[in-house]
Amino acid sequence: MFILKGIDQLTNAIAKAKKVRPRVEFDCFGRYRVSGSKGYYTVICRKDERGYKTVACSCKGAEKSLVCYHAAAALSLHIGLARQQQTA
Ligand SMILES: [Zn+2]
Repeated sequence: MFILKGIDQLTNAIAKAKKVRPRVEFDCFGRYRVSGSKGYYTVICRKDERGYKTVACSCKGAEKSLVCYHAAAALSLHIGLARQQQTA
């Protein structure tokens, strides 16, 4: 899991996501399934009690607090949905 502080953090992961083009499936708001090399990973995007945006992925890299491309792919969908909610 990592705390999202800015888009800079995601630059490498976004570049990888663009290359790999994983499938992102919407589960519910803040919860997505992203295809990876060994099947689907679950990515949870949420705000913790202190107001930090946290992103958790069920893959191995995320266990070590790495920003994985699954998280980047899910976040691009999540951010779009969050914007829609705010303007709705
Ligand atoms: Zn991941």
